[in-house]
Amino acid sequence: MTTLLELEDVHAFYGDVECLHGIDLTVDDGEVVVVLGANGAGKTTLLRSICRLVRTDGSISFDGKEIGNRNTYDVIRRGVSMVPQGRGTLVDLSVDDNIRAGGYVRRDKGVEDDVRYWYEVFPRLGQRRSTSAGSLSGGEQQMLAIARALMSRPKLLLLDEPSLGLAPIVVRQLFDVLAKICAEREVAMVVVEQNAALALGMAQRGYVLEAGTVAVTGAADRLRDDETVRRAYLGY
Ligand code: ATP
Repeated sequence: MTTLLELEDVHAFYGDVECLHGIDLTVDDGEVVVVLGANGAGKTTLLRSICRLVRTDGSISFDGKEIGNRNTYDVIRRGVSMVPQGRGTLVDLSVDDNIRAGGYVRRDKGVEDDVRYWYEVFPRLGQRRSTSAGSLSGGEQQMLAIARALMSRPKLLLLDEPSLGLAPIVVRQLFDVLAKICAEREVAMVVVEQNAALALGMAQRGYVLEAGTVAVTGAADRLRDDETVRRAYLGY
Protein backbone atom coordinates (compact mmCIF):
# COMPACT_ATOMS: atom_id res chain seq x y z
CA MET A 1 0.00 0.00 0.00
CA THR A 2 1.24 3.46 -0.85
CA THR A 3 0.62 6.36 1.50
CA LEU A 4 -1.60 8.91 -0.25
CA LEU A 5 -1.99 11.48 2.51
CA GLU A 6 0.29 12.11 5.45
CA LEU A 7 -0.17 14.73 8.14
CA GLU A 8 2.75 15.23 10.50
CA ASP A 9 2.47 17.42 13.58
CA VAL A 10 -0.30 19.56 12.06
CA HIS A 11 -1.50 22.55 14.05
CA ALA A 12 -4.46 24.60 12.78
CA PHE A 13 -5.44 28.16 13.65
CA TYR A 14 -8.48 30.41 13.42
CA GLY A 15 -6.84 33.82 13.85
CA ASP A 16 -4.56 33.39 16.86
CA VAL A 17 -6.58 30.53 18.32
CA GLU A 18 -5.04 27.09 17.85
CA CYS A 19 -7.67 24.36 17.31
CA LEU A 20 -5.56 21.37 16.22
CA HIS A 21 -2.52 20.61 18.36
CA GLY A 22 -0.11 18.36 16.48
CA ILE A 23 -2.13 15.85 14.44
CA ASP A 24 -0.41 12.83 12.83
CA LEU A 25 -2.60 10.97 10.34
CA THR A 26 -2.12 8.83 7.25
CA VAL A 27 -4.42 7.54 4.51
CA ASP A 28 -3.29 4.88 2.04
CA ASP A 29 -4.35 4.70 -1.61
CA GLY A 30 -7.97 3.54 -1.78
CA GLU A 31 -8.32 3.35 2.00
CA VAL A 32 -11.39 4.49 3.97
CA VAL A 33 -10.54 6.24 7.23
CA VAL A 34 -13.20 7.36 9.68
CA VAL A 35 -12.76 10.33 12.05
CA LEU A 36 -14.83 10.31 15.23
CA GLY A 37 -15.02 12.85 18.02
CA ALA A 38 -17.34 15.02 20.09
CA ASN A 39 -18.65 18.39 18.90
CA GLY A 40 -15.81 20.89 18.71
CA ALA A 41 -13.07 18.20 18.78
CA GLY A 42 -11.66 19.55 15.50
CA LYS A 43 -12.98 17.08 12.90
CA THR A 44 -14.16 19.72 10.42
CA THR A 45 -10.99 21.72 11.00
CA LEU A 46 -8.96 18.62 10.12
CA LEU A 47 -10.74 18.33 6.75
CA ARG A 48 -10.41 22.08 6.18
CA SER A 49 -6.67 21.83 6.89
CA ILE A 50 -6.25 19.22 4.14
CA CYS A 51 -8.23 21.43 1.71
CA ARG A 52 -6.20 24.48 2.67
CA LEU A 53 -9.23 26.38 4.02
CA VAL A 54 -7.57 27.11 7.36
CA ARG A 55 -4.07 28.19 8.33
CA THR A 56 -1.81 25.36 9.49
CA ASP A 57 1.71 24.58 10.67
CA GLY A 58 3.40 21.22 10.23
CA SER A 59 3.53 19.02 7.15
CA ILE A 60 0.68 17.83 4.92
CA SER A 61 1.83 15.69 2.04
CA PHE A 62 -0.48 14.37 -0.65
CA ASP A 63 0.53 11.97 -3.40
CA GLY A 64 4.18 12.50 -2.51
CA LYS A 65 4.08 16.33 -2.59
CA GLU A 66 3.89 18.87 0.21
CA ILE A 67 0.51 20.69 -0.02
CA GLY A 68 0.65 22.59 3.26
CA ASN A 69 1.89 25.61 1.31
CA ARG A 70 -0.63 25.26 -1.56
CA ASN A 71 -4.01 26.92 -2.13
CA THR A 72 -7.38 25.16 -2.31
CA TYR A 73 -7.65 25.23 -6.11
CA ASP A 74 -4.23 23.63 -6.43
CA VAL A 75 -5.11 20.91 -3.92
CA ILE A 76 -8.36 20.09 -5.78
CA ARG A 77 -6.43 19.93 -9.06
CA ARG A 78 -3.98 17.48 -7.48
CA GLY A 79 -6.84 15.14 -6.56
CA VAL A 80 -8.59 16.08 -3.33
CA SER A 81 -12.34 16.75 -3.21
CA MET A 82 -14.61 17.60 -0.29
CA VAL A 83 -18.30 17.25 0.48
CA PRO A 84 -18.78 19.84 3.22
CA GLN A 85 -21.21 19.53 6.08
CA GLY A 86 -24.61 20.74 4.81
CA ARG A 87 -23.66 19.44 1.34
CA GLY A 88 -23.05 22.77 -0.41
CA THR A 89 -25.22 21.97 -3.43
CA LEU A 90 -26.00 24.97 -5.62
CA VAL A 91 -29.71 24.99 -4.86
CA ASP A 92 -30.81 27.34 -7.67
CA LEU A 93 -28.99 25.35 -10.34
CA SER A 94 -30.32 22.16 -11.92
CA VAL A 95 -29.10 18.73 -10.89
CA ASP A 96 -27.25 18.48 -14.20
CA ASP A 97 -25.50 21.84 -13.76
CA ASN A 98 -24.46 20.84 -10.23
CA ILE A 99 -22.90 17.62 -11.45
CA ARG A 100 -21.10 19.33 -14.32
CA ALA A 101 -19.85 22.08 -11.98
CA GLY A 102 -17.87 19.37 -10.20
CA GLY A 103 -15.90 18.66 -13.37
CA TYR A 104 -14.74 22.23 -13.89
CA VAL A 105 -11.08 21.51 -13.11
CA ARG A 106 -10.90 18.76 -15.73
CA ARG A 107 -9.36 19.21 -19.14
CA ASP A 108 -9.99 15.68 -20.47
CA LYS A 109 -12.79 14.41 -22.70
CA GLY A 110 -14.21 11.92 -20.18
CA VAL A 111 -16.65 14.34 -18.56
CA GLU A 112 -19.71 13.10 -20.53
CA ASP A 113 -18.92 9.47 -19.66
CA ASP A 114 -18.68 10.39 -16.02
CA VAL A 115 -21.98 12.32 -16.06
CA ARG A 116 -23.60 9.18 -17.53
CA TYR A 117 -21.88 7.00 -14.91
CA TRP A 118 -23.26 9.10 -12.04
CA TYR A 119 -26.80 8.98 -13.45
CA GLU A 120 -26.46 5.19 -13.52
CA VAL A 121 -25.20 5.07 -9.92
CA PHE A 122 -27.94 7.50 -8.83
CA PRO A 123 -30.92 6.85 -11.17
CA ARG A 124 -33.11 9.20 -9.14
CA LEU A 125 -30.77 12.07 -10.05
CA GLY A 126 -30.93 11.02 -13.69
CA GLN A 127 -34.71 11.25 -13.63
CA ARG A 128 -34.54 14.70 -12.13
CA ARG A 129 -31.61 16.16 -14.01
CA SER A 130 -33.46 19.35 -15.06
CA THR A 131 -34.94 19.95 -11.61
CA SER A 132 -33.39 22.57 -9.34
CA ALA A 133 -31.16 20.97 -6.71
CA GLY A 134 -33.02 22.85 -3.98
CA SER A 135 -36.18 20.85 -4.59
CA LEU A 136 -34.49 17.47 -3.97
CA SER A 137 -34.88 15.58 -0.70
CA GLY A 138 -32.02 15.68 1.83
CA GLY A 139 -30.82 12.23 0.79
CA GLU A 140 -30.89 13.11 -2.91
CA GLN A 141 -28.97 16.31 -2.24
CA GLN A 142 -26.32 14.34 -0.37
CA MET A 143 -26.00 11.91 -3.31
CA LEU A 144 -25.77 14.91 -5.65
CA ALA A 145 -23.06 16.50 -3.51
CA ILE A 146 -21.08 13.24 -3.61
CA ALA A 147 -21.47 12.83 -7.39
CA ARG A 148 -20.42 16.45 -7.88
CA ALA A 149 -17.36 16.02 -5.65
CA LEU A 150 -16.33 12.88 -7.56
CA MET A 151 -16.72 14.53 -10.98
CA SER A 152 -13.21 15.95 -10.52
CA ARG A 153 -11.97 12.31 -10.36
CA PRO A 154 -10.23 12.80 -7.01
CA LYS A 155 -7.85 10.31 -5.44
CA LEU A 156 -9.12 11.40 -2.04
CA LEU A 157 -12.69 12.29 -1.04
CA LEU A 158 -13.31 14.12 2.23
CA LEU A 159 -16.83 13.74 3.66
CA ASP A 160 -18.03 15.86 6.58
CA GLU A 161 -20.93 14.17 8.37
CA PRO A 162 -22.65 12.81 5.25
CA SER A 163 -25.49 11.21 7.25
CA LEU A 164 -26.47 14.40 9.10
CA GLY A 165 -30.24 15.00 8.99
CA LEU A 166 -31.02 11.90 6.91
CA ALA A 167 -33.53 9.17 7.77
CA PRO A 168 -31.90 5.87 8.94
CA ILE A 169 -32.89 3.97 5.79
CA VAL A 170 -31.39 6.71 3.59
CA VAL A 171 -28.22 6.67 5.68
CA ARG A 172 -27.87 2.93 5.05
CA GLN A 173 -28.34 3.42 1.29
CA LEU A 174 -25.79 6.22 1.38
CA PHE A 175 -23.14 4.02 3.01
CA ASP A 176 -23.87 1.16 0.59
CA VAL A 177 -23.31 3.55 -2.30
CA LEU A 178 -20.12 4.94 -0.74
CA ALA A 179 -18.73 1.41 -0.37
CA LYS A 180 -19.57 0.67 -4.03
CA ILE A 181 -17.96 3.92 -5.20
CA CYS A 182 -14.87 3.20 -3.15
CA ALA A 183 -14.48 -0.21 -4.78
CA GLU A 184 -15.33 0.85 -8.37
CA ARG A 185 -13.54 4.20 -8.49
CA GLU A 186 -10.58 3.31 -6.25
CA VAL A 187 -10.96 6.51 -4.33
CA ALA A 188 -9.67 6.90 -0.77
CA MET A 189 -11.98 8.54 1.75
CA VAL A 190 -11.75 10.39 5.03
CA VAL A 191 -15.23 10.29 6.59
CA VAL A 192 -16.14 12.44 9.58
CA GLU A 193 -19.24 10.77 10.94
CA GLN A 194 -21.49 10.68 14.02
CA ASN A 195 -22.91 7.33 12.97
CA ALA A 196 -19.84 5.50 14.22
CA ALA A 197 -21.22 1.98 13.77
CA LEU A 198 -21.92 2.41 10.07
CA ALA A 199 -18.75 4.37 9.39
CA LEU A 200 -16.52 1.85 11.23
CA GLY A 201 -18.26 -0.88 9.24
CA MET A 202 -17.07 0.65 6.00
CA ALA A 203 -13.65 1.95 7.12
CA GLN A 204 -10.35 0.12 7.39
CA ARG A 205 -9.00 2.44 10.11
CA GLY A 206 -10.19 5.20 12.37
CA TYR A 207 -9.04 8.16 14.45
CA VAL A 208 -10.78 9.57 17.51
CA LEU A 209 -10.15 13.28 18.06
CA GLU A 210 -10.41 14.91 21.46
CA ALA A 211 -9.88 18.64 21.93
CA GLY A 212 -7.73 18.97 18.81
CA THR A 213 -5.51 15.93 19.37
CA VAL A 214 -5.65 12.25 18.34
CA ALA A 215 -6.87 10.35 21.41
CA VAL A 216 -7.16 6.86 19.87
CA THR A 217 -6.27 5.41 16.49
CA GLY A 218 -6.23 1.93 15.01
CA ALA A 219 -7.91 -0.62 12.77
CA ALA A 220 -11.68 -0.17 12.52
CA ASP A 221 -12.44 -3.58 14.08
CA ARG A 222 -10.09 -2.83 16.98
CA LEU A 223 -11.82 0.52 17.55
CA ARG A 224 -15.20 -1.22 17.57
CA ASP A 225 -13.92 -3.30 20.52
CA ASP A 226 -12.27 -0.39 22.32
CA GLU A 227 -14.20 0.31 25.49
CA THR A 228 -13.96 4.13 25.32
CA VAL A 229 -15.06 4.15 21.69
CA ARG A 230 -17.90 1.75 22.41
CA ARG A 231 -19.23 3.80 25.29
CA ALA A 232 -18.83 7.22 23.67
CA TYR A 233 -19.73 6.47 20.05
CA LEU A 234 -21.44 3.12 19.79
CA GLY A 235 -23.67 3.40 22.83
CA TYR A 236 -23.18 -0.03 24.40
P1 ATP B 1 -18.76 19.64 15.07
O1 ATP B 1 -19.09 18.21 15.10
O2 ATP B 1 -19.55 20.46 16.05
O3 ATP B 1 -18.71 20.25 13.70
P2 ATP B 1 -15.88 19.48 15.00
O4 ATP B 1 -15.22 18.34 15.67
O5 ATP B 1 -16.02 19.42 13.52
O6 ATP B 1 -17.27 19.74 15.67
P3 ATP B 1 -14.58 21.97 14.51
O7 ATP B 1 -15.77 22.56 13.80
O8 ATP B 1 -13.42 21.58 13.73
O9 ATP B 1 -15.07 20.76 15.41
O10 ATP B 1 -14.14 23.01 15.64
C1 ATP B 1 -12.94 22.85 16.40
C2 ATP B 1 -12.75 24.09 17.26
O11 ATP B 1 -12.51 25.21 16.42
C3 ATP B 1 -13.96 24.44 18.13
O12 ATP B 1 -13.48 24.90 19.36
C4 ATP B 1 -14.62 25.56 17.36
O13 ATP B 1 -15.29 26.44 18.24
C5 ATP B 1 -13.45 26.25 16.70
N1 ATP B 1 -13.83 26.85 15.40
C6 ATP B 1 -14.40 26.22 14.37
N2 ATP B 1 -14.59 27.06 13.33
C7 ATP B 1 -14.13 28.27 13.73
C8 ATP B 1 -14.03 29.56 13.13
N3 ATP B 1 -14.45 29.77 11.88
N4 ATP B 1 -13.50 30.56 13.88
C9 ATP B 1 -13.06 30.34 15.13
N5 ATP B 1 -13.10 29.14 15.75
C10 ATP B 1 -13.63 28.13 15.08
